Amino acid sequence: MHCPKCLTAELESVSVPVKDRSIPGPDQTMGQVEVDMCASCGGVWFDKDELDRYLDAAAKPLPPMAKAVDPAQDRKAGLCPRCCAKPLHKTPAPSNPRLTADSCPQCGGLWLDAGELERAAGKDLPFAERLQAAFGGV
Ligand SMILES: [Zn+2]
Ligand SMILES: [Zn+2]
Repeated sequence: MHCPKCLTAELESVSVPVKDRSIPGPDQTMGQVEVDMCASCGGVWFDKDELDRYLDAAAKPLPPMAKAVDPAQDRKAGLCPRCCAKPLHKTPAPSNPRLTADSCPQCGGLWLDAGELERAAGKDLPFAERLQAAFGGV
């Protein structure tokens, strides 16, 4: 898969440990969710189910998220890496209009540019909480 913004850069698959909700009780085993990250621009691609699992997991922030937002990168129109370059739509987070993600109307995937979450919410909140606050209930 290619980066929706850099276009030529390949996305790298990164495994993030998450809880497995299919196992009841407090001793839920840890599973893995794979997200796709661009080493060039620091953005992260979530497939639809990946984002749900990631939000559930209260996972640690992905390192590139700490980068500063590049406004030029943010304004760039993205192309879905899954749907043969279908254009991504700028989607304001329902509960946080300062955060705009690029989402694919076809597959439901979501692209976050590097630093978008840091800009959108307080830095003291854990990463997953910020994501939950912005996109929870969508
Ligand atoms: Zn990129
Ligand atoms: Zn798509």
